[in-house]
Amino acid sequence: MINIRPHHLLCMRAYIGNGYSEEFKIEMEKVIKELKVYNEFLKSDNLNNYIKKVNIVFNTDSLCEKCPNKLCENKCASQEKVSLIDEKMIKYFSIKEGIQNYIDLENQVYNKINEEIFDDICKECEWYNMIDCKKYILKV
Ligand code: SF4
Repeated sequence: MINIRPHHLLCMRAYIGNGYSEEFKIEMEKVIKELKVYNEFLKSDNLNNYIKKVNIVFNTDSLCEKCPNKLCENKCASQEKVSLIDEKMIKYFSIKEGIQNYIDLENQVYNKINEEIFDDICKECEWYNMIDCKKYILKV
């Protein structure tokens, strides 16, 4: 079962080949492909009738496993920032912990997100000013 923390629902769609290490990128691409996340860079697409379950966790997840910033279980070098971004995702999209259909989570997020919400959630992220995640998430 793939574990996903809330803000990675955005990062997986916005991924364009950047990452904290080679291993991290390999893991990111593996998970994106397995979940069939819509991603322009990898040219992967989600199918409307595709039902894949993921486990939503409010701490370190499957993508964090290969991240050099992971200090130990549930502890990240950027813990405060990352937790704040997750908390905003939980609040805006009423995300709950536990096993769910990935496609339902996508709908929960992408039917509601707009520029204002995106900026509020992502402005604390170190990638916010470096890569154009907004373009891939809002398709603007
Ligand atoms: S700005 Fe950061 S948190 Fe937001 S989608 Fe991009 S990488 Fe993910």
